[in-house]
Order: sequence, then C-alpha cells, then structure tokens
Amino acid sequence: MRTTSPTLRERGRHKRSGNVAPFYYKGETVVFGKDSFPCGACDHVAKTWEALSAHYRDDHGRDLAARYSALGYPAEAVAGRPVYADGRFSHVKAVGWVVDKYRRAQISINLTDFKVTPAHAVLEAAREEAALRGIAVTGSEIVGVVPFDAMLESGRYYLRRMHKSTGLPVGDVIETAVQAMGLRDVAPFETEKKVLGLPRPAGDLVRKTVGEFVDEVSRDTPAPGGGSIAALSGSIGAALAAMVANLTVGKAEFGGRYEELDALAARAQDTRTSCWPRSTRTRRPSTASWTPCACRRTRRTRRARAARRSSPATSMPPRSHWRPPGSAARHSNCACWPRAAAMTS
Ligand SMILES: [Zn+2]
Repeated sequence: MRTTSPTLRERGRHKRSGNVAPFYYKGETVVFGKDSFPCGACDHVAKTWEALSAHYRDDHGRDLAARYSALGYPAEAVAGRPVYADGRFSHVKAVGWVVDKYRRAQISINLTDFKVTPAHAVLEAAREEAALRGIAVTGSEIVGVVPFDAMLESGRYYLRRMHKSTGLPVGDVIETAVQAMGLRDVAPFETEKKVLGLPRPAGDLVRKTVGEFVDEVSRDTPAPGGGSIAALSGSIGAALAAMVANLTVGKAEFGGRYEELDALAARAQDTRTSCWPRSTRTRRPSTASWTPCACRRTRRTRRARAARRSSPATSMPPRSHWRPPGSAARHSNCACWPRAAAMTS
C-alpha cells in the first residue's frame, strides 16, 4: 500500500520505466536530460522544456511550470532531476504507511475539494490499486465530520453502480454510502454525529405520528388546517409515485429505461419532502425586504426606542408597522400585514 498513495495523490511520484506494474518500485527512475524532457502524464518526450510545456498544456490541460514549481523545482533548470508522474486525482493529498500495531497498511487521504474529487472515486481507485497487488482493502474511516452533500453523492454513485434507484429517502442513500465505503468496518460511524448538514424535517407537524396529526387537525385552532392537509396529501401522493418508480427500476423488462425511471423516482422523492406540512403556527409572509411604515407612530416608536437603547437594531418599530416593497410609504391605518396571507398554514 506504500506504493498506492502516491498513485492517487495530486503530487504524484517519480516517473519510472521498465518493470513498474504492479510493483512500481521495481522500475528505473526517469530523469530530465539536456535535450530530453519526458512528460509525466504520458509517454511523450519533448526536446525542450518549452515544447514539453506546450504539450502538457495542449494534451493534458495543465500548467507545467506551476506543476514543477509546486514540487520545488528551480525554474527550467531541471536537467538530471526526476520526472514526476501525475497522480490519478487532483485535490488529493495522500500518504501511506504500515501501522505495526494493527499489522496493516494505511493510506491517509485529505480531499481538498470533494466536488472535483469525491471520496468514493478515490476509495474505488485505492481498491483497484490494492487489488492489482493482491491486497484487500479491509475498511475505511472518516476522521472528523463529512459534508452531507459528499455522502449523498457517494451514496448515489453506489446505488447507480448497483443499478438501484437513487430516489430513496436521504437516510437510505447515506446508509448505502456508509456500507459501500466500509465506514463502519474499522471504527464506529454514527451518521447523526459524523455527517455535517444532515437535513432535518422543518417544523413540528412532520414529526408527529399520524394519529397525533389527525388529533391536531380536529382541534379548535386555525392551524393545521386546509393548507397542511393539502401539503400532507401532496407528500403522500409523491411518495406513492416514488414507490412505483422504485419498484419498476429493478424489473428486468424496464432494464433499458433505468435513467428515466431513476430520474422520476428522484423527482418524486424531492416533491415528497418539499410538500411536508411544517408548522402548527400561522405563518407570516417573508419580511426580509420589508421596510418600516412611514406613519407617525412608526417615527415616534423608533425615536423612543432609539432613546432607550443605543443599538440601531433594537430601535425598529413593531412588526405591525412594516410595509412590503412597492406599497404606499404611509399606511392610513398602519395595518401593514396582508391579513389573508397571514393565515397560511
Ligand atoms: Zn503527455
């Protein structure tokens, strides 16, 4: 495994020729000559540094000067120095060593941009490289926390690879990633603690049991009312649509329509969660762009509060004296809230 981490990391390793597969260290180190400039990413050998720069830019889309400058090479004085073979990934820092205590080799990897280089891609490459050497990867571990989006993308990758629907509840997708990546094989993995930004259902209604929800609807309170019932009905309808798509994805007769069915299931799943009834409280419309009404009471209130408190943030008039964009600057009755909209539930 010592030979695997440099293959993965962005920095790469010394290029070698001859008998390098699968045991890289058996090859001879390739060096830059006076008129021999081998490419680190392919077999091309240029005659000058400038020609190699042009080749590296045109064929590999990378900056040769930046590449070797990052490795500490002096500008263009490279004769006699080893050529560096590119690593398989960008945004990866990796190092490998043997941990005698556990009688295992370990690769420690930092992913500096999981959107460009996702964890599952690097892990699968490590498994490939290990398999070439007859080694089994016995598990992996995430040290610290991992962003929700990264785990979601990994879960979707493994579901697609298994030809399963990605339109599952997010908890199921995350669990797929945890199991497929072997994240519980060497250390505990508690999803709630490890995954940063795990979405949680908004509002108190969605956390009630069906019986509690129905009880709440029947009470003499304005909410939850028709809006919440409509939201719940929409959510259940979308869940049924997701179920049908998920059942169909695995059927042999629909094997050629995986992409279409998977997209349908994912869309139904999104609709299901976006429809959830949210709160027992009546909600006011967004007031992010509202400004205080210019009525006399507003001005009085602001002056009075500003006199009492030094902070301008606490000198605002009561919410009932704010107005939406585009409305008249002064409201005759100061009733700035649109009453009908305030009853949405
Ligand atoms: Zn090349």
